[in-house]
Amino acid sequence: MTMQVSKTIGASDKVMLDAPIFDPVAFRLSDEQAGIIARAREIGQSVFAGRAATYDLEATFPTENYRDLHRVGLLGIAVPKKHGGLGANYQTYALAAAEIGRYCGATALTWNMHVCSTLWSGPLADDLDMDAETRAEHERRRAVHYKRIVEDGAIYSQPFSEGGAAAAGGVAFGTEAKPVKGGWIVNGKKIFASLSGHADYYGVLCTEIQEGGKASRRNTLYVAIPAKSQGVSVVGDWDPLGMRGTVSRTLLFEDVFVPEDSALMPRGVYFQAAMRWPHMFLTLSPTYMGLAQAAYDFTVRYLRGEVPGMPPVKRRMYPTKQIAVAQMQIKLEQIKSIWFQAVTEARANPSKEQVLRAYAAQYSVMEGANELAALAIRTCGGQAMLRSLPLERIYRDSRCGSLMLPWTAELCLDRIGREALYEAGETDD
Ligand SMILES: Cc1cc2nc3c(=O)[nH]c(=O)nc-3n(C[C@H](O)[C@H](O)[C@H](O)COP(=O)(O)OP(=O)(O)OC[C@H]3O[C@@H](n4cnc5c(N)ncnc54)[C@H](O)[C@@H]3O)c2cc1C
Repeated sequence: MTMQVSKTIGASDKVMLDAPIFDPVAFRLSDEQAGIIARAREIGQSVFAGRAATYDLEATFPTENYRDLHRVGLLGIAVPKKHGGLGANYQTYALAAAEIGRYCGATALTWNMHVCSTLWSGPLADDLDMDAETRAEHERRRAVHYKRIVEDGAIYSQPFSEGGAAAAGGVAFGTEAKPVKGGWIVNGKKIFASLSGHADYYGVLCTEIQEGGKASRRNTLYVAIPAKSQGVSVVGDWDPLGMRGTVSRTLLFEDVFVPEDSALMPRGVYFQAAMRWPHMFLTLSPTYMGLAQAAYDFTVRYLRGEVPGMPPVKRRMYPTKQIAVAQMQIKLEQIKSIWFQAVTEARANPSKEQVLRAYAAQYSVMEGANELAALAIRTCGGQAMLRSLPLERIYRDSRCGSLMLPWTAELCLDRIGREALYEAGETDD
């Protein structure tokens, strides 16, 4: 496959491409899937890996990477083929995103926010109930979003978090949409809004409230607000521990008029998706699957004395280091297995067992990636954690996985424990 990317790889700096995280034959992927995933891996390794340190150091958004993602068709990975996209399904997207995360966590995580606007309004929404008229209207509206992405390279984000229980799925979103002629007036605030100041459209979750009505999660709206709309502003600074290139600042919406056509899902469909397609919340994990692989890859290369720019000192002959690598390999295979199963079986109306497995997969990846990175630092030794090498960034980026709502590591534990012990509606009264 040939790709055009903005950094030319000369003969002297030609990189040997890494093997895929999930071998297409062993994991029974189709040629088409393997091609899309390879496209992500190639651009990740040959281009994004070289830029990642600067975005991290400066906490700046990977704008150049997005131009490249557009150029190679990956901005429209989940856009149906009839609309000019690659038509990837959930599993294909997840595997491709893991390959990007392997080389630049911040690019993969922000790309996830972007892709989900098409995945959720696309293949997920196709599985949900809508009457014929609503579906036709949805089809017309999403075509507009797809065209912007495929033709113009428009970038979408997903600001949900508000600092309270809404993003955890506990209560209705505090950002409110008041119906007016031709659309809504939106007011509210979103924290940790990745891509703020860089996305062209903010895919905001808000609660539609009629005059004098009460907020309900059933009335959640998912709308794409143009970043340049009057009343939209980005405030606050951004100097976090990890995932620094995500630029997740605070977004304010003050009396922003949002036309009806901006809806990414029809009324009531987001709530239906959250109830019936729970794997939608597993989409934050691919980035961290990639980081887990990156921690392992680095360790093997480092101990073999093969890290570019480092003296070719071998450390692989020490038994304690060999044991640590064995532990890392076992952990990595455990993470890969449960995660692959979870992203492969994602669908509408999953069984209880499948939902519990999805929580367990999320927990395993989010906690496991950071455990692998910590073990990698201990095993490789002092020089390996210098900022001139990617491992310390992998360590910091991987620490963020467990914090991602609505499936934080804690909330996964809460849900697994409760849902394993109680059937729906069961109490001890
Ligand atoms: C790098 C990065 C990028 C991010 N990008 C985005 C983004 O693009 N869009 C977005 O919407 N969000 C994003 N987030 C936000 C993330 O998903 C969380 O929402 C954010 O970390 C919330 O911070 P918090 O301190 O309020 O969370 P927490 O305090 O952990 O949780 C918020 C609320 O959830 C409830 N809650 C939390 N834990 C429990 C529990 N165990 N039991 C019961 N209730 C609980 C509580 O009401 C709590 O006040 C990002 C986060 C990071 C770190």
